[in-house]
Amino acid sequence: MENILVIGGGLMGSAAAWKLAARGASVKMLEQQAEHYDRGSSYGTARISRSLGPKKDVFSHVHNQTVKEIAKLISYLNDEGTSEEHSMDDIYSTSPVSYLFHKDDYAEIKKFRFKKQRKDFSKASQHSSFRKFGISIPKDTILVRERRKYSGTLNPQELLRKLHLGIRKKGGQIMYQHQIQRLVKEGDIFEVTVLDLATQKTQVIQAKKVIVAAGAYTVGVLQEYAPYFKRLITPKKVVLSYLKIADERYAQLLEVEKKALRESLPLFSQIGKEFYAMITRDGDGASPIIKAGGHQRRRNIHDLRTVWYDDPQRKELKWIKKQFRKHLKMLEIHVSKKDIEEVDNYTCVYAETRTKRPIVSQIFNQYGVLDPHAVVCGGMSGIGAKGCLAYGALAADLILGTVQKPNKMYRKMTKAFGNPSVNLYTKRPKPGRLF
Ligand SMILES: Cc1cc2nc3c(=O)[nH]c(=O)nc-3n(C[C@H](O)[C@H](O)[C@H](O)COP(=O)(O)OP(=O)(O)OC[C@H]3O[C@@H](n4cnc5c(N)ncnc54)[C@H](O)[C@@H]3O)c2cc1C
Repeated sequence: MENILVIGGGLMGSAAAWKLAARGASVKMLEQQAEHYDRGSSYGTARISRSLGPKKDVFSHVHNQTVKEIAKLISYLNDEGTSEEHSMDDIYSTSPVSYLFHKDDYAEIKKFRFKKQRKDFSKASQHSSFRKFGISIPKDTILVRERRKYSGTLNPQELLRKLHLGIRKKGGQIMYQHQIQRLVKEGDIFEVTVLDLATQKTQVIQAKKVIVAAGAYTVGVLQEYAPYFKRLITPKKVVLSYLKIADERYAQLLEVEKKALRESLPLFSQIGKEFYAMITRDGDGASPIIKAGGHQRRRNIHDLRTVWYDDPQRKELKWIKKQFRKHLKMLEIHVSKKDIEEVDNYTCVYAETRTKRPIVSQIFNQYGVLDPHAVVCGGMSGIGAKGCLAYGALAADLILGTVQKPNKMYRKMTKAFGNPSVNLYTKRPKPGRLF
């Protein structure tokens, strides 16, 4: 019998499995994909890593915790003497992060304590933005720029690779190409029906405890054991586009313009459909590849199994290109439509929760009884990566029944991401913007 099973080997499952293995627990992680990860919310090489927030902001906290946890992972891997040298720079690319707000959000922006955190955050109005940041922003908007070590982007693909290395080195097991078909509980024991996708053989694995971190598929995995999750998590389709300025045109840009482009990314606009863009591949002097999308451009999904192969709608791609061209205009870089090339695009998924907040919580079973031996870690939509190791560590604490640091921020975190039923059915949290 397995002690702890982790279902799903994306950022959340891998973070939880690593924390459990590092704490000496016997852990087995099951992932339906092969070792090369290419069909989950954690797919890709760039995510915005940022910690802008008011005092005691829980989302800044999870980012900061994740930075600390990744430093521990790196140090462990180096101490273990793996054949390669590991570094924080393999995961993080530090650069300024720019946020565009509407002036109506000024009350929220004021909470960022610019005076006290002058070194880390600064802001500009339409009048001062070009002078301060080299960006001409539209009327009625405010640009906020964050400059902190490890704010910029993080590489999920590399982080997954290092987490899996760490899990195995600590004695944890990872079973790739193993798909969970059914999760039920008989008495005190979970019975998990697993299909080996390579051999097409099915087996039933028993476990005392489970962590479900199946991303958008969490609802399906829990359909028998905790069917109420179908009301909590809704998978949403999002489109990503990889763009670049055509090489010829890029070569004509002045060095200051190239620098302004690099300095302006990642960008996260808090206006409308929330356009974001970040450099995903820096071309060593050549035109960088920029990953872009609309954080709120989300659509419902008919079939979650095939969504990865859906062609993005032309109008979505057009919208992204248009926003990117607008961004270049704000940098006073004027290029024609044909000077922006689309290198790639694909459809991806968010696991959106009703509260728009992540869920890291024990689960109520189908009879409405809270089960301390079952934990869900999911629903991070577009903000999970930057805090993944804090969520994973919390999931590990919950399943082990231990608390690492019960300080004020820890309690705040357990409350914010905690028991969704209590949150949903007793005190409905105010829907709001997440920073
Ligand atoms: C387009 C996009 C942009 C984003 N941008 C940012 C950003 O800028 N900053 C940021 O912080 N976050 C960002 N995020 C969010 C972040 O990437 C996600 O929150 C995070 O990767 C989610 O990880 P996960 O482990 O919950 O899900 P996943 O990575 O989807 O992992 C779930 C895993 O479970 C496996 N699985 C599912 N069902 C089964 C089954 N039955 N049996 C076995 N295995 C199963 C899947 O194959 C998958 O590998 C973005 C996400 C997307 C999609």
